[in-house]
Amino acid sequence: MTDQRIYNFNAGPAALPLSVLEEIQASFLNFKNSGMSITEISHRSSYFDEVINDAVERVKRLLKLDDRFHVLFVQGGASLQFAMIPMNLLAPDDAADYINTGTWSTKAIAEAQKMGKSVHVVASSEDKNFSYIPQNIAFNPSSKFVHLTSNNTIKGTQFYEFPDTKGIPIVADMSSDIFSRPLPMEKFGLIYAGAQKNLGPSGTCMVIIRKDLVDSGNENLPTMLKYSTYSTKNSMYNTPPCFGIYTIDLVLKWIEEEMGGIEKMEEHNIKKADVLYDAIDASSFYTTTAEKYSRSLMNVTFRLPSEDLERDFVERANQHGLGGLKGHRSVGGCRASIYNAASMESMYALVEFMESFEKENK
Ligand SMILES: *Cc1c(COP(=O)(O)O)cnc(C)c1O
Repeated sequence: MTDQRIYNFNAGPAALPLSVLEEIQASFLNFKNSGMSITEISHRSSYFDEVINDAVERVKRLLKLDDRFHVLFVQGGASLQFAMIPMNLLAPDDAADYINTGTWSTKAIAEAQKMGKSVHVVASSEDKNFSYIPQNIAFNPSSKFVHLTSNNTIKGTQFYEFPDTKGIPIVADMSSDIFSRPLPMEKFGLIYAGAQKNLGPSGTCMVIIRKDLVDSGNENLPTMLKYSTYSTKNSMYNTPPCFGIYTIDLVLKWIEEEMGGIEKMEEHNIKKADVLYDAIDASSFYTTTAEKYSRSLMNVTFRLPSEDLERDFVERANQHGLGGLKGHRSVGGCRASIYNAASMESMYALVEFMESFEKENK
């Protein structure tokens, strides 16, 4: 069975570590001798308490979080956070700065505006089709937070360094690069990530939020849209996405125990991306769509000489056991998503295929 698995370059839901999937499989019918599956266990049981607490502790260890942060699990994906963030953090007279680096930032801005909030778009790379990360941004000193998308899943760009916001907390959508590298946590007020790229199955969004932002947040909101509901109940005010949280715990354990921690994870990710970008740079057949100093280590976006060739490339790659290489429907082209779980072996397999496809079609 496992030898029929493909090299999976899907953007999300995306590849998970094989050892994690095998552990889920092995314990699926009888979780920790409970006589039940993890999908049948009560979220009020000590079995599940252990799972969620272990996941939270692992997040804290991996990101070296101190006691100023809550780790929460919320449903509704990253997309609900686009609305929950301004709802909770901005009072009627408050404003926030947003950096627009692509589709997801654009959506976050639109949701904040829909809430009637005052939004300053302080920088945007829309002038060049979102192919780069803006530098030297001036922020509004009175803004409550600065929102950015750390990795642009669709456009293939990534913040290598986070801007100096002069103490204004950064609120970051890290859906597609969380736990891919260490983070300067002193800069962040809130980090959120839909699980289905780098963490687990879809249906769970991780929110890491500074406690003072929860405490000063808007209390006059529907229960399920308020961060304090999650922080006071350990994300279990209602039934949480148990299977998702369990899988996230196993993925975090894999990072800690099999990959050697987050610094090692970053080294591995840099090496993987280098293999692909080096191959693309050495060829005149393939071209990257992102500017060199903004290129994502997680989503490698590239073009071929024609759309016909791109279609053919994706189809032939599929036949060779290389899946998910079609670019996002909004931009076309090709994209290899190479999140934490993508192996070095899959990079070599892709490069080998790319070279032979080039030779045949030049
Ligand atoms: C996938 C993605 C989203 C949307 O996530 P959902 O969980 O589907 O709402 C938002 N932001 C980024 C950066 C993404 O990659």
